Amino acid sequence: MTDADAFDCETCGARVSIDEAVRSETYGGLDPETWQTLCCPSCGSRLKTVFVGDE
Ligand SMILES: [Zn+2]
Repeated sequence: MTDADAFDCETCGARVSIDEAVRSETYGGLDPETWQTLCCPSCGSRLKTVFVGDE
């Protein structure tokens, strides 16, 4: 795992790897098959929205 695959939660300070993050559907009308939101498994805050669709 590299630093690029982990996120620091701004709410609770947890270091969350991309495999540990909870994936949820996006907000704001983005296509859920193309975009997913990664959430902190500890506090549930959104960490990052990632592109999961095909290029
Ligand atoms: Zn958190």
